[in-house]
Amino acid sequence: MEPVPLVHASLGQRELAAVAEVFASGWPAGQGPRGKALEALLRKRYGAGDAVAMCNAGAALHVSLLALGVRPGDEVIVADYGFPAPAHAVRYLDAVPVCADVRADTGTVDPRAVADLITPRTVGVIAVDTVGMPADYTELRAITDRHGLFLVEDAACAVGATYRGREAGTLAEVAVLSFHGRKGATSGEGGALLATDPRIGADARLYSSFGIGSIFDMGEVVGLPIPEFTRIGHNYKLSDIAAAILQVQLDRTEELLARRTAVAGQYAGLLGDEELLTVPYVPDDRTHAWQTYMVTLGPGVDRAAVATELRAQGIGCGHGTFATHLQPVFESKHPCPVSAELFRRHLALPMHAELTTGQVERVVDALRRAVRAHAGTTRSPGGPA
Ligand SMILES: *Cc1c(COP(=O)(O)O)cnc(C)c1O
Repeated sequence: MEPVPLVHASLGQRELAAVAEVFASGWPAGQGPRGKALEALLRKRYGAGDAVAMCNAGAALHVSLLALGVRPGDEVIVADYGFPAPAHAVRYLDAVPVCADVRADTGTVDPRAVADLITPRTVGVIAVDTVGMPADYTELRAITDRHGLFLVEDAACAVGATYRGREAGTLAEVAVLSFHGRKGATSGEGGALLATDPRIGADARLYSSFGIGSIFDMGEVVGLPIPEFTRIGHNYKLSDIAAAILQVQLDRTEELLARRTAVAGQYAGLLGDEELLTVPYVPDDRTHAWQTYMVTLGPGVDRAAVATELRAQGIGCGHGTFATHLQPVFESKHPCPVSAELFRRHLALPMHAELTTGQVERVVDALRRAVRAHAGTTRSPGGPA
């Protein structure tokens, strides 16, 4: 049987043609014509005050916090459940990540948990659009406004998702996107920072390019401009090769997201009646980008045994994402029991734009058999065979 991969990047001839054009242009490095065109495209698509293309979302988070003025010892509240890049970014600045627990039904940060963790040292909040599901921005915004805190949206997984009619990436004053190979729009590695305030954007661009302006631009000027370094910056630029790929990928996001949404609909239709697991819940006021499709296994189901069985049949699966506070590097004073439970019970199933109906059915059949075989002691005798 053909393997069914957990993820697959939809990169094809159009992206290859865009790369060939960059090769011919002679400017493969960052902040050249392609990078600028990508930033213009992002500004327009998101109605952002500024958009800065960067080498990945982790870098964009780091630069966000630099531009927002986070200082050593400051506390930043981070959503506990998700890839732990936000907590890493806080630690890059010797600030303190404070993990906030999440909603059991959506996996997104619980606004009440955020409110409870605010102290005089808190300077901001990083919410995560968990595997593509936007968080509760109306409630989060009310809390951060009341306390004078910044709000950052980690929309790394959420390109194309919406919340109350607004697109993910526009739901806070600063947002980051990821274009890593496992996200819905990709250039292999890549990221972007979106800011409503153009001054934050300009600052972020300097921090991401060694503290000086575009070398490409300097080459275009008549005369001999000598740039000056006025601050310590990083080299977080996105290459023009990656930018060219992303121009094509952003043009395809609706098409690719429609395919993933159809796959999610098939899974939900086929698995909705299975009592040993729960399919994802999407509140009416938002749409999911389906970066990952995670089912929640019943409490008695042996997840490792189920995963082993699926993998033995060539079906990709995984644990889903991470509970930040349980990672050894982030010692935490605050328990996040809901996040810990999701981290223990989620199972990620194959999700990408090129899955066929036949493959989805095969995954569902194999999963149904595996959860029933490994349902453990909580399953009542005489239940589904
Ligand atoms: C993938 C991911 C990141 C990191 O993105 P990179 O582009 O790989 O740095 C950050 N935050 C979340 C929530 C992610 O899922």
